[in-house]
This record gives sequence, C-alpha cells and structure tokens, in this order.
Amino acid sequence: MNHATDEALAQVDPEIFRLIEAENRREHESLRLIASENYASRAVMEATGSCLTNKYSEGYAKKRYYEGQAVIDEVEELAIARLKALFGATAHGSVDDIHVNVQPYSGSPANLAVYLAFLNAGDTVMGLGLAAGGHLTHGHNVSISGRYFNSVPYGVRRDDHRIDVDEVRRLAKEHRPKLLWCGTTAYPRTLDFKAFREIADEVGAILAVDIAHIAGLVAAGVHPSPVGIADVVTSTTHKTLRGPRGGMILCKKEHAAKIDRAVFPGVQGGPHNHTTAAIAVAAHEASTPAFKEYAKAIVENAKALGEALAARGFSLVTGGTDNHLLLVDLTNKTIPGKVASKALDQANIVLNYNAVPFDPRKPFDPSGIRLGTPSVTSRKMGKDVMVKLADWMEYVVAAPEEKARIEKVAAEVRELCDGYPAPGLRV
Ligand SMILES: *Cc1c(COP(=O)(O)O)cnc(C)c1O
Repeated sequence: MNHATDEALAQVDPEIFRLIEAENRREHESLRLIASENYASRAVMEATGSCLTNKYSEGYAKKRYYEGQAVIDEVEELAIARLKALFGATAHGSVDDIHVNVQPYSGSPANLAVYLAFLNAGDTVMGLGLAAGGHLTHGHNVSISGRYFNSVPYGVRRDDHRIDVDEVRRLAKEHRPKLLWCGTTAYPRTLDFKAFREIADEVGAILAVDIAHIAGLVAAGVHPSPVGIADVVTSTTHKTLRGPRGGMILCKKEHAAKIDRAVFPGVQGGPHNHTTAAIAVAAHEASTPAFKEYAKAIVENAKALGEALAARGFSLVTGGTDNHLLLVDLTNKTIPGKVASKALDQANIVLNYNAVPFDPRKPFDPSGIRLGTPSVTSRKMGKDVMVKLADWMEYVVAAPEEKARIEKVAAEVRELCDGYPAPGLRV
C-alpha cells in the first residue's frame, strides 16, 4: 500500500503520519484553485526531504563561515546557474548582467531584503495597494513594510480595474519614492514593466518587480519578463514555478553585493540547503519543453474557466484574464465571497475569498473570490473540466446553504479527481 511518506514517520510519529495522509487525500480529491498553490513534483519533494536539511552554510559559495561545504557549494551554484539560464532566456539584455540569490526563505523575506538593501527606515516606498490586488509586503500598514517605511499605495482605475500607470506616475512625481514595486497577488492582467521602468527613471527610484505569482509564466515566456528591466526581481519558487516553498532574488550585477549582504547577514541566517536543492530541481523541470506547454495550458484553462463562468452570469474583474488567475465579484449573485468559498470548500472546490477593487465590504468578509488554474493544470485537466467546474460553482453558489447540493458536488468532484493523478502525491 502506498503512503504519502515513508515508513519511519509512521513508526515514530503516527499522529503526524496520519495528518499527512489526510492532507495527501484532500489534495487528491479536491479541485485546488487557490491561485498561489500548486503540486510540486516527487523529485522536488525528495530533494526537500533530504539530508541537506542537516547542514549549516552561512555565507555564500566559497565564502562560508562553517567548514564541510564542498557539496553545498555545488548545490547552490547549480541552483543559481539553472535559474540564470532559465530566466536569462527571456531576459532583456545579457545573461551576464544577472545576479541570482537563491537563499531567501520565501517571498516575504526576499522582499524584506530588498528594503534593507536600498532603504532606510522612514524612506518612501510605492506599491499596488492590497485592496487593488497588491501584496502585504509592498507597503501595507500591518506589514513591517508599511510600519517602518513611508508607504504611498497606488491603485487601479475605477472604470476598468486595471493598474493606472498615469496615477503611478503622478504619485511618484509627487512623493519621490526610493523604491517602486510592480507586482501583484490578485490581478488578472499582464504587467507593463517598461512603463514602470520609465517612471522609476523619471523619479530616480529603484524598480523592484515581484513575480511571486507569475514566475512560471515568465520562465516559460507566457508573460513578459522583467529581468533586465527591473533593478531587482523577487519571487517565490512554489507558485506557478512549481518548486519547493522558497524564495529568490534576481538583480542587476551592480546591485549584487547589496542584495547578498541584505539576505545574509541582513535578514537571515543559514540558508535552507534542502530547499536550494529542490529549487535547482524545479529550475531543471521548468527548462523543459513540457513546462512551456504546461504554462501555456495554465493560461488557456484560466481563459476557458473565465468564459464559462461569465456565461453563467459570474462577473469577472477586468472582464477576464491574461494569466493564471480570475477574480470574481459576487455582488450580482447576492452572496459574499466568504459564504461562497466556505460552501465550495465543502464541495471539494477549494479557493479563497478575496476583496475586489473598491470593495464596499470589509477585507475579512469581502465581495469576491479568487481562483487560479496552476494546480488543476498540473493534473492535466483541460477545458472540459473547466466547463464542468463552472457548472458546479453555479450550482453551489445558487444555494450555498443546501447540504444535499454540496454533498452531490463533493462526490462528483472526488470521482473526477480520481481520473487525474496529481504530481507528487501518492494515492
Ligand atoms: C505570495 C506572494 C509573496 C509572499 O510569498 P510568501 O512565500 O508567502 O512569503 C510576495 N509577493 C507576492 C506578489 C506574492 O503573491
């Protein structure tokens, strides 16, 4: 019989063993539509679960503070070389001008390192506001980025809910930020990195682009690349890139020393070498023709799901999508996002409630839901499944309190999922 983990865990810690088995089952039998999630491959998981977790290696290759680094240096240099090749392929300018730091523990610590590299406390930063689809770490007031820096958020236009570059320029000229962020967490459209570069140059700001959500699309050439345009590009490695939970920073060579010092010893201690190895594996996987097809299919599925939802009366923010995610405003369906997301979760359709631009409701009880197609596309589900999914969503959202409906859909989803094995899981 197959288990999600190997025997040692079952013997040593049956409680955690049982919980991992349960999560393995949940991830198998549900349609996972959280836009930031994916299924890492078994190869990525094996690297993550390896002996590399035992090693301390503060510093960088050939400049470490501990001995015994012969293997670790090779692992880190391999990860860096692969990321450079992967993102260099679609970059503007020369690959030789790209520096890579693969040590950030995740996306938020990577962004924190950018602040430390370029700003002093109290300096001005501009980023897309949280309510408009930005990330906490781009200056939101509950995050350290909004507490320790002077944050001037920009938004989206009221009429079409797209990023308002004119407003970005006007605010930048007025507030002269030292750091300008471009990057999103709930925005379904292509980002115009060149426009942000122009604005940053006009006001003398560092341009940081955060591709946490779209790194896989960028690597595959399905979304334009900011590498070579931005001063710094930060990312997670576990969203569309489909690697382990981790972070990375790509920057222009001139910023290399500042970025490296900011990551270590600035905000972190020893790197997570097991994660570094798994990032190398993911970069290898992402360099294959199969991954390019995967990234294309993510967007095709998102578009197909958007069309199917729109045909069933769902209102899509910006009217559709260019990337891996959809933002749905449920106001016309007269149920709030949280009620919908909780009912759909019971029906094995897992997504998150989300604010929509200019949301009249509170962030903890907003008007919308966010859906993404990276995970379902990793299971090789296609357009037919997207249409079925829209049917199920319409059916559940029409009567979210009806238990029988939810149970019917939950069983149908479970049956469908059995036909689409997910990478990395053992069932
Ligand atoms: C997910 C995300 C992050 C943070 O990543 P964590 O790994 O959760 O810290 C940062 N920026 C953006 C735009 C994101 O979407």
